[in-house]
Amino acid sequence: MNQVKETTIRLKKNFINKITKGYPLIEKNAVIDTNKLTHEGMVIKLVDNNNKFIAKGYYGKQNKGNGWILTYDEQTKIDYDFFRDRLNKAINLRKEFYNNQDTTAFRIFNGEGDNIGGLTIDYFDGYYLINWYSEGIYMFREYIIKALSELTDYKGIYQKKRFNDGGKYIDDDDFVIGERGNFPIIVKENGVKFAVYLNEGAMVGFFIDQRDVRNIIKEKYAKNKNVLNTFSYTGAFSVFAAKGGAKKTTSVDLANRSRKKTVEQFEINNINADEQDIIVEDVFKYFKYAVKKQLLFDLVILDPPSFAKSKKHTFSASKDYTNLLKEAILITEKSGIIIASTNCSSFDMKRFKEFVDKAFHETNTQYNIVEEFYLPTDFKINTKYKESNYLKVLFIKKS
Ligand code: SAH
Repeated sequence: MNQVKETTIRLKKNFINKITKGYPLIEKNAVIDTNKLTHEGMVIKLVDNNNKFIAKGYYGKQNKGNGWILTYDEQTKIDYDFFRDRLNKAINLRKEFYNNQDTTAFRIFNGEGDNIGGLTIDYFDGYYLINWYSEGIYMFREYIIKALSELTDYKGIYQKKRFNDGGKYIDDDDFVIGERGNFPIIVKENGVKFAVYLNEGAMVGFFIDQRDVRNIIKEKYAKNKNVLNTFSYTGAFSVFAAKGGAKKTTSVDLANRSRKKTVEQFEINNINADEQDIIVEDVFKYFKYAVKKQLLFDLVILDPPSFAKSKKHTFSASKDYTNLLKEAILITEKSGIIIASTNCSSFDMKRFKEFVDKAFHETNTQYNIVEEFYLPTDFKINTKYKESNYLKVLFIKKS
């Protein structure tokens, strides 16, 4: 890459204050000179109407906005050293994770939380996975990959391009440099194993951000319990529950692949999958079945996507979470626990608790909240950007 040129762009008046105070996103309608935004990856110097410097960032289209602020210092150049320095800081913050042999999957770079929006990097037992969330950030790939490869003892580096239409995944060869992985690679999380695929589309097999939740399920909530795991994907919560001594787990997901993937996760952890139930079905249909059969569970896990469309149902977390909880309440034992989780960034914990309260109120049931989780520390958040704190998990005890 040659020396990066900077283009001066005027900000609209009503966005200046927000950005000056640290808001890292360049919102879609924030700039006056949209005609000067000619190519993604250009470095833009944002100024006010009197040409006074406000901040520097890059232009990159995401569903969220048109790019991210990179620095508030006019002298800082957006060059190789810049990216190396940001990556180095982020890696140093995760030293504890690198030193922990029981957990070999964690995030080393979390977008705007580590002061470069649009970029995340995860570590999987020696392999690194870069997620590029716009063509803009991808334009800096030479710097970023060079910095990552200099700063780490990597076995191999993989990437996911998620920059067409609203961050959707582009199917491509994901391999970048180093040695190719022999997939699945087996990583550990608090001593439990996970099969990870870095070469099979957008999703790698499990969501690292639920680490603390899985661990407390294993350590404190699973023993001798009858567990229902809905929206189970590859069964990560079920595996931890089984490892924690659950009497039985039932995993429900409508994706066909979920059965095979869940069996695989059980088996690599020496759990006999035949003794667990894995059901490929619409969760809402399963709830009806469970009510009809008068099934009751001690622990019910709800971790739906923010938005999902199945043949019969459209589920939107911000609209339908209360109803989902009401269904779960019906099939939870007295004194049982419902784990309600959401990764929806359009509402906060306060609002989430309102959904919970409404669901219990409308079913005439008493409850109390016994645990509350947010993102783990490797998913560093940007306090000036509330949406980055998307994960909310409540453990609710039904009275
Ligand atoms: N809880 C999982 C992650 C869930 S990802 C974990 O901890 O790993 C969301 C999952 O919900 C996907 O696997 C998707 O197939 C499933 N899903 C979406 N809508 C569904 C529905 N109506 N019924 C059952 N599963 C659904």
